Amino acid sequence: MVKVVKFGGSSLASADQFKKVGKIIKAEDSRRYVVPSAPGKRDSKDTKVTDMLYKCYGEAKEGKNFDKTLKAIKERYNEIIKGLGLKLSLEEQFKEIKKNFEDLAGEDYAASRGEFLNAIIMSNYLGYEFIDAASVICFDKEGNFDGEKTNDVLSKKLAKVERAVIPGFYGAYPNGKIKTFSRGGSDVTGSIVARAVSADVYENWTDVSGFLVADPRIIKNPEAINVITYRELRELSYMGASVLHESATFPVRKAGIPINIKNTNAPEDKGTLIVETTCNKPDSTITGIAGKKGFVSISIDKDMMNSEIGFGRKVLQVFEDNGISFEHMPSGIDTMTVFVHQDEFVEKEQKVLAELRRATEPDSIELESDLALIAVVGRGMKNAVGVSAKVIKALADARINIKMIDQGSSELNIIIGVRNRYFEDAIRAIYNAFISEEK
Ligand code: ASP
Repeated sequence: MVKVVKFGGSSLASADQFKKVGKIIKAEDSRRYVVPSAPGKRDSKDTKVTDMLYKCYGEAKEGKNFDKTLKAIKERYNEIIKGLGLKLSLEEQFKEIKKNFEDLAGEDYAASRGEFLNAIIMSNYLGYEFIDAASVICFDKEGNFDGEKTNDVLSKKLAKVERAVIPGFYGAYPNGKIKTFSRGGSDVTGSIVARAVSADVYENWTDVSGFLVADPRIIKNPEAINVITYRELRELSYMGASVLHESATFPVRKAGIPINIKNTNAPEDKGTLIVETTCNKPDSTITGIAGKKGFVSISIDKDMMNSEIGFGRKVLQVFEDNGISFEHMPSGIDTMTVFVHQDEFVEKEQKVLAELRRATEPDSIELESDLALIAVVGRGMKNAVGVSAKVIKALADARINIKMIDQGSSELNIIIGVRNRYFEDAIRAIYNAFISEEK
């Protein structure tokens, strides 16, 4: 059995957190490959080391003296080293970093040092080999991640290494220059490493016990999700539920490796298992609820629209020409509605309306702003009778008007549009109907 374990910033924010992580790793012999993030926040007022590095490099770029900021970063690491009682000095590394900042080695280089240094500490603490991600995580000349080349290089390298620490978040261009993933990218590195060693599971350790059925800021103590499929996860993350980096599922999914989200502060909790497919039935008909505010609906009415071939294309062309992506498109016989993000739409509003009029010669166009979309997601919905009815009844009982309802033919989700101001109440009503009452 081989496990790849990735630890997020809050799991590595202090020596005490490092000790918890060390315990977790040593508890199972199979935890052979470790991917650390940079030290995160120790409390809500603290600053992540990655953000300190961006700030420090910003000062260097402006030609300002950045000694103070770099010193504060060094102190974060030294505090961890001291707390762990290690005989390790990062003096040399900090000298080199200072020089490279003066030479303006790049923002990505700067940010990557957070993971680089933390991995050095981690490898020293565990007695595992340190492998610089720059030598095994490959980007092409254009800066796109090269998955196949990486898998080739990395799997060959790790075949010869029994236990290793590989810093998350970055890799390098073919010429060796450092390139990072987007923020939160250590999740992606963990997934890449898991694929390269054909891990049995990719454990992603964070500060929550997995995914919750709904946002805890809206629902008090929501239920946890024990098992979720990649497709369900994608629907929920797209609608705003965030625990994992968006791109983190791709490498492991390709290789059929499950991801287990675990809590460093409560390692005995089962967390959430993310799998390709499962016959494990969710406790309730639905797996999760998520949503986003801030949409506009543009409804175009035209008599006999149903018989006008190409009408839909003309409408969507206008949005495409204006660089606006659409979210949903419910339609009736003589009406078509397009949901778009309000912030993408507002500044182009009049231009889009004029172009729509020209392209489609409608009877009328109506706009409605400040709408929210809520996704009710669940593999258990397929072939279940009355799911939409239950959603509609829950909202009716809560006296919430539904602006739109849309069920994909995959029967994996139902999307509901309501006014922004009813967003939280609508989520509560649906949660109660499905989770609280089905229990
Ligand atoms: N340290 C990076 C960030 O703060 C990457 C990560 O933690 O995954 O975004």
